[in-house]
Amino acid sequence: MDIQYISTRGQGGRVTASQAILQGLAHDGGLFVPETLPEPLYSAGALADKSYKEIAFTVMKKFLTDYTDEELKACIDAAYDSKFDTDEIVPIVKVGGAYHLELFHGPTIAFKDMALSILPHLLVTALKKNGVDKEVVILTATSGDTGKAALAGFADVPGTRIIVFYPKNGVSRIQELQMVTQKGKNTTVVGITGNFDDAQRGVKEIFSDEELGKKLSDKGFIFSSANSINIGRLVPQIVYYVYAYAKLVGQGVIKDGDAINITVPTGNFGNILAAYYAKAIGVPVHKLICASNENKVLFDFFETGVYNRNRGFILTSSPSMDILVSSNLERLIYAIAGNDAARCSELMNALSGEGRYEISASEKEGLADFVGGYATEKETADRIREVYEQEGYIMDTHTAVASHVYDAYKKSTGDETPTVLASTASPYKFLTAVLDAIGKLPENIRDDEFKKVDRLHEVSGVKIPKAVEKLRNAPVLHGRLCGPERMKAEVLDILTGRGY
Ligand SMILES: *Cc1c(COP(=O)(O)O)cnc(C)c1O
Repeated sequence: MDIQYISTRGQGGRVTASQAILQGLAHDGGLFVPETLPEPLYSAGALADKSYKEIAFTVMKKFLTDYTDEELKACIDAAYDSKFDTDEIVPIVKVGGAYHLELFHGPTIAFKDMALSILPHLLVTALKKNGVDKEVVILTATSGDTGKAALAGFADVPGTRIIVFYPKNGVSRIQELQMVTQKGKNTTVVGITGNFDDAQRGVKEIFSDEELGKKLSDKGFIFSSANSINIGRLVPQIVYYVYAYAKLVGQGVIKDGDAINITVPTGNFGNILAAYYAKAIGVPVHKLICASNENKVLFDFFETGVYNRNRGFILTSSPSMDILVSSNLERLIYAIAGNDAARCSELMNALSGEGRYEISASEKEGLADFVGGYATEKETADRIREVYEQEGYIMDTHTAVASHVYDAYKKSTGDETPTVLASTASPYKFLTAVLDAIGKLPENIRDDEFKKVDRLHEVSGVKIPKAVEKLRNAPVLHGRLCGPERMKAEVLDILTGRGY
C-alpha cells in the first residue's frame, strides 16, 4: 500500500513520505499526516523474537512507502548501532509498578535520540531520491533535548546545516553544555531570551515566510525541521511502542492480543502521538496516559475540551515539557475532527489568534483513548525519592512526572492493565533536581556541575554516561544570543553573513 502525506490544514498538497520529510512543515503551515493509515500489523506479539532493527524496518516500511527496502535498511543500520550503549537499544525495566521503556541509551541520553539518530539518514536519502541539489538547513527549536540530539545527528553530515535555538534560561546546565560544546562545521547554536514557545513560534514563522524561502532558495538552501512536526521524527518513534509490546509478549508478561496502557511524559505531544499511531496500526492499547508537569494545558484539555494557552509559563524541573503550545496535538485534532482540514484550520487559527479553542462534544468522544494527568514540582520530587528509597532506582524528572501520574491513575481507577512507561531521559541530565529530590545534594557542590555528576554516580551506582563524561573538558564553541524577534535576522546572518 502506497501512503501519501497531506497537510492537516488542507492546502499543502499531496506528497510522498520522502518529500514530507524534506519539507518538515507543509507550506500551508499545517503538519503532514498520512492520507490513509497503513494496514495494521498482522500481530505485534508475533514480533517477540525480532531485534530492534528488524521491528524498526517492519514498522517504518508501512509509513515510508517510497523508500526502497535497501534504503530503509541502510538508514536503520546507520542509526541504531554502537552509538547506543546497549545492544538492546531500548531496555525494558520494571520500576514503580510499570514497565519503563528506557529510551535514553543513545548518544545524547534522552529519548530524542530514538528518532534523531535516523532522521539525518532519512533526509539525506530523501535529497537523493528527489534529485534535490540544495543544501538542507535544519532549523530547530528546542526545549533542551531535541537540540543536542539533532546537532549530534546532523554534525558534519554532507549537504546539511543545522541551526538550533534554545531558551537561554530554560534548560538544565548539562543540556546547555551539551549544545554549546557541539563540534561540526555545519552546526550553529543560538540562545534566545525567551521561552520554548517563543523559539518554536519563531521557527514556524521562518518556515512559512515565502519571501525568505525564495531568497535562500536562490542561494542554494532549503529549510527543513528536526522538530517532531517532521514526520521523519514521528515514524521512528512508533517503533519502540511496537517493540515494547512484542518484548512483553516475549517475556510472558502479557499474551499476544492482551491490551497494555502507555504512559508518556508529554510536552510537544510527539512521543504520545507515536503511541496513538502504534495503536492505530494494531498494538492493543487500552489507555494512553498523557502526563504533564505544572504547565498542564493538556491535562485541562482532556478534562474540558478547551485548549487554552493563555496562562503563565512555568519553568519547572522537567524543562523539556515546559510547553504551552503542543504542536503535534494538531495531528490528533485533525483525526478527531474526522480528517476535516477546514475544521482543523479553524481551531488552529483560533489558537494563534485568541490563544484558545474548544472542541465539540462529538470531537471530544474521539479522545476516549486518552487520560490526562499532571504532577506538581513537589509530587515529581517526592516520586523520585519514593522510588529511589523503595527500589534503589533513580529516575529523571520527566520520567518521574509520568511515574507520579501513572501511580495516581492506578490508585484512583484500580486499572491493573500492564503499563509501559516512556522513560525519556537519564537522571544525569538533571542533576540538581534529582539530587535535591533524594536529599543528597550538599550545599558546597550545588554550583559545581561535575561534582554533582560524581555525586550522582556515588549514590546511584549508575555508570556515568559517555555523553556526560566528555563534557568535562569540552571547549565552549557557541555563544550566539538573540531576542525571539531577531531569529529570522540571525538565520540570514548565519547562512549568508560572514559569521558562518
Ligand atoms: C522532549 C521530551 C519530552 C516530551 O516529549 P514530546 O514528544 O515533546 O511530548 C519528555 N521528556 C524528555 C526528557 C524530553 O526530552
